[in-house]
This record gives sequence, C-alpha cells and structure tokens, in this order.
Amino acid sequence: MSTPVDLVFLGPPGAGKGTQARIIADVFGLSQLSTGDALRAAVVAGTDAGLQAKAVMEAGELVSDEIVNAIVAETIDQPEFEAGVIFDGYPRTLAQANALDQMLEARGRKISAAISLEVDEAALVKRISGRFTCANCGEGYHDAFKTPAQEGVCDQCGGEEFKRRADDNASSVATRLQEYHRETAPLLEYYRNQDMLKSVDAMAEIDRISHDLKVVVISVGGVPSETAVA
Ligand code: AMP
Repeated sequence: MSTPVDLVFLGPPGAGKGTQARIIADVFGLSQLSTGDALRAAVVAGTDAGLQAKAVMEAGELVSDEIVNAIVAETIDQPEFEAGVIFDGYPRTLAQANALDQMLEARGRKISAAISLEVDEAALVKRISGRFTCANCGEGYHDAFKTPAQEGVCDQCGGEEFKRRADDNASSVATRLQEYHRETAPLLEYYRNQDMLKSVDAMAEIDRISHDLKVVVISVGGVPSETAVA
C-alpha cells in the first residue's frame, strides 16, 4: 500500500477548513477528521466528553487537550483513516500538536504537510454568520456564497433539513478568534520550523482554493483519484 498522506489544515474559524477538507479528502481518497464535528456528535449523543464540552463550545472556548486527543486517538485507528487523514480543526494547541506527532509516530506515520488557509480576518465574521449545513449529509452552504441550486433542497443528497451551529454568533466568534490567536497561531511557527508549513490564499473562490490545495497536496505525495487537477 502507498504511504498514507496525513495533512493538517490550519486557519482561523471561518477560513473554510471544513469545506475544503471535504473536497480534498474526496479528491485524494483521504478521510476528514474534524474534531469540531466529533465533539458536536458527542454533545448530541450525550457522552461524558460531550457533556463536558457543550458549554465550552457554545462559549467559543477550547475543549481540553485530553478530551480532544482521546477523540483523535480513537478515531485514527478506524480502517477508513488508513489511507491518510485531513485533520480539520486539530491540532489547535502546541500540546495537541505534540500529541499528534506522537500518535502518528507510534503508528509509523508522520504529517506530510500542515497547510495554512490564509484569510483576511475582516471577512471572517461575514463568512461564519451566513453558513449552514445539510442536516443529513453535512454538505456546507452559505447565504451569500453558496446556496443550494434549488432553494431548500441539498444539492448532494436531496435532504430538506438544514442546520446552523449554536456557536456561530457574534460573541462566540469573537472568543474563537481570540483563542485562535492565543493558542493556535503559534502552530504556524511550529510547523514552519519543521519545514512542513505550506499556505494557500483562502480568500479566493471555493474552486480556486481547492485547486491551489490540490497542487500542494500533490507536491507532498498525494495522488488524486480524479484524472486531472482542474
Ligand atoms: P470547529 O468546528 O473546528 O470550529 O470547532 C468548534 C468548537 O469545538 C471549537 O470552538 C472548540 O470549542 C471545540 N474544538 C474543536 N476542535 C478542538 C480542538 N482541537 N481543541 C479544542 N477544542 C476544539
């Protein structure tokens, strides 16, 4: 089997990590691991981790490294993560970055690249406040940038129910940005020092960003399941 391609997507809330992780995972046959999605699922399921995380997430603060690292450790051993993982929203602290390096090393793997999605922060609040997802398949939409072709019907699965996140409100977004600067932005330096850091302009159109990401992923050994880089 070919070497797994494990990627970290870095960027502030609203940079488009989730949207692009879905697209790129699909193109390269990788699996997206969003700790935010996993935590939201734990909240809905009412697990211990979910109960502890709920209020923290709604406030826009960071859930403890222990909880998040445990979720990742449990998840990456599932068979669909063998070919490679896009870590979306993880790591978010230096302690998590170290934990991830150790988890991968213990499995004979290592990160192929950490890709920073570069955005103009003034645009983030607008991006975040308009977003919603299909409740059935998780496809992401936006009031201003990407509405379903037929209003009220998901382009991907035909679902007619959509949801918006509880933490996509002004006060939580402000806290999430502060947490990003305090805890997560130092990871840029961490990966730059290891010569792992790549970046793309994430202010462009969705398709353009995907294209730029594909070029980066190919440059670090990713093999697209599609024939060409569009
Ligand atoms: P996201 O969907 O990535 O925007 O994450 C939503 C919320 O889940 C964050 O604001 C945090 O409260 C929590 N969360 C997600 N990933 C992490 C992480 N790696 N470390 C700590 N908290 C996280």
